[in-house]
Amino acid sequence: MPEAAIRHDWTRTEVAALFALPFNELLHRAHGVHRQHHDPNAVQVSTLLSIKTGGCPEDCAYCPQAARYDTGVAAQKLMEVDDVLARARAAKAAGASRFCMGAAWRGPKDRDIPKVAAIVRAVKELGLETCATLGLLGDGHAQALKDAGLDYYNHNLDTAPEFYGEIIHTRDYRDRLETLEQVRDAGLKTCCGGIVGMGETREQRAGLLQALANLPEHPHSVPINQLVPVPGTPLGDAEPLDPFEFVRAIAVARILMPLSIVRLSAGRQQMDDAVQALCFFAGAGSIFYGEKLLTTGNPDVEADRALFRRLDLHPMEVAMEAAGVRAGLPESDAAGCGQGCGCSAAA
Ligand code: SF4
Repeated sequence: MPEAAIRHDWTRTEVAALFALPFNELLHRAHGVHRQHHDPNAVQVSTLLSIKTGGCPEDCAYCPQAARYDTGVAAQKLMEVDDVLARARAAKAAGASRFCMGAAWRGPKDRDIPKVAAIVRAVKELGLETCATLGLLGDGHAQALKDAGLDYYNHNLDTAPEFYGEIIHTRDYRDRLETLEQVRDAGLKTCCGGIVGMGETREQRAGLLQALANLPEHPHSVPINQLVPVPGTPLGDAEPLDPFEFVRAIAVARILMPLSIVRLSAGRQQMDDAVQALCFFAGAGSIFYGEKLLTTGNPDVEADRALFRRLDLHPMEVAMEAAGVRAGLPESDAAGCGQGCGCSAAA
């Protein structure tokens, strides 16, 4: 197979044509791209912690943390450094290489940044990669987080530009692109993906992936979330997406962004093992792991370990990921390697 080209000029027609390929043909092509650039048996393992839960002023239609929806999620303050550290240590002990921290804010205020920076610094000192998803960033925020040792900043595009207004009204697509630009300019790695199964058409799923692939740099990490409908949110009664359509989205993301690590993200708990295996074959190279790590004998962690054993998968080493795994990220990308969600609800 010829080396996959790194392109930023994908047309909607081209992306839609990938989605329309016969399923086996699409998976064959996606797996070929995956093997060219990644160890097909290595999966990067991240753990996500909500460091500031609930009470968010935004109106993302999928999110139980929006204050305006009656979902039973209580607003909490930003966690203390020591409490975050205890969770980070547990994540590391359970095998995570990256610790992702989400805060349910429209964006951090200037006064929040030193507090988050202290958390990032402490987690980084444990030898974990760090990622934060805090919403829209203001002037100087990205640089301050970078200086504290942040590796990745997550900010999702969520969906196609033309469907975005159906999902969120309190911030626009341009706001998201501007935050991503600040993140890139500060030298942080970007984690940027979206959510499928929100009632969008296949054409609009193609639009999301086209928008991601045509960013000035492909995101280092591309979380593809499947909507988990939460009662009380506007999407609480959304029709489930055909699992094979989700696999197609993973495969198309793999083909469009060959060097990025595609993450099988929210919604994994609702997928059976066979669908997850198809996602790994199609190019997913990262998961979230152990949502309740302080619970002894966590069945989620045990189930994931068993799935890894059955599929002969192994956790990706940080150094391996940093080095760009197989065919290699450019040196500038590989250096200092260190997630996400559009915010914390859907990493
Ligand atoms: S996704 Fe993030 S920004 Fe949107 S309502 Fe939830 S916490 Fe707020």
